[in-house]
Amino acid sequence: MKKKKLPLAAWIFAGLVAGIVLGLILMAVPNGVAFAKAYISPFGTIFLNLLKFIVVPIVVFSITAGVISMRDVRKVGSVGVKTLVYYLCTTAVAVVIALMLATLAKGMFPLLDPSGASYEANTANIMDTIVGIFPSNPITPLANSTMLQVIVIALLLGFGILLAGEKGQVAAQVVESFNEVSMKIMDLIIKLSPIGVICLLAPVVAENGPLLLVGLGAVLLVAYVGYVIHALLVYSLTIKTLAKISPLAFFKAMVPAMVMAFSSASSVGTMPFTLECAEKLGAKKEVSSFVVPLGATINMDGTAIYQGVCAVFIAACYGIDLSFGQMITIVLTATLASIGTAGVPGAGMVMLAMVLESVGLPVAGIGLVMGVDRIFDMGRTTINITGDAACAVIVSKLEERKAAKAAS
Ligand code: ASP
Repeated sequence: MKKKKLPLAAWIFAGLVAGIVLGLILMAVPNGVAFAKAYISPFGTIFLNLLKFIVVPIVVFSITAGVISMRDVRKVGSVGVKTLVYYLCTTAVAVVIALMLATLAKGMFPLLDPSGASYEANTANIMDTIVGIFPSNPITPLANSTMLQVIVIALLLGFGILLAGEKGQVAAQVVESFNEVSMKIMDLIIKLSPIGVICLLAPVVAENGPLLLVGLGAVLLVAYVGYVIHALLVYSLTIKTLAKISPLAFFKAMVPAMVMAFSSASSVGTMPFTLECAEKLGAKKEVSSFVVPLGATINMDGTAIYQGVCAVFIAACYGIDLSFGQMITIVLTATLASIGTAGVPGAGMVMLAMVLESVGLPVAGIGLVMGVDRIFDMGRTTINITGDAACAVIVSKLEERKAAKAAS
């Protein structure tokens, strides 16, 4: 008889429980903490190294592929422009909400490693940050994981391929193929998460005890409050003012897709539902068939909220105060990371590594939130697809009104 396989999320959750139990045991036995640091931590480091290793290829290929997938933007003209403006603006607002909320709630986050205050944080001022976005050579940013520069390289490569037209086809295919390959490598690394969670959590729990658990409850709560505020504020407001639809009717019609997203944690997997709900709300087929798949690839407001909240949480755990310049950098990177985040479970967590690197926060901090990533992911995916559908409905209505005006 074929054994039923436990889903990865269940394994990761089991890893979380095992890591906590192991940590508590090690806390109680003599020399347990030293043992955890010497013999368990290194395996956590291996997992983190693998995550860091895959971030640059994922960012380069997925953002470039994201830009290439917009080759239709020109074809669809004003629909494309409206869609892009809506996607980028709502994502940037999402990060701002997340950063404000998490900063307000900072008192709820535990200080786990005060030595982190001496961590070499990126303290550049805004002008330096802006200048620092633009690479002066194409290799160093990739080798040093200078994320903002890597994003610029990916965007330029994508636009270059688009502008090259027919002659850029081969490059486009190469990028799309490598994008698939790096996604597969990411899948393999994510499969190691349960072990990674144990090895990263046990030493932290051994040292800090239940303080971490209280912190995890707090950061989850803040992220979910952020998701709800974003939905109620941004989607309600834009649906009401731009599409002239009652927000209540919108959310009611969205229930099937939202439930599917919540349970699958995959925007791509939820796409048929998102399409159906958007069309039921009056989105034209030709608009939604462009807007929704593009959104499942490049629009991730929930993921952006999660990244903003987690960045502040991790900084707080390490006793680091984020400067205004760092916050701006997080808004920028998280908005762009949204383009590079695949609509599959767990992708946002890998991109969190990029956001942390961009402001010089310790990537090891991901270990703190990784065990409960699925819980974050369910909420963020629900917000991600709601944004896609809202955009499809709004752009459809705006186009309808434009056509009606032109006809009269
Ligand atoms: N699971 C999310 C989605 O499919 C992406 C993420 O991991 O943030 O939309």
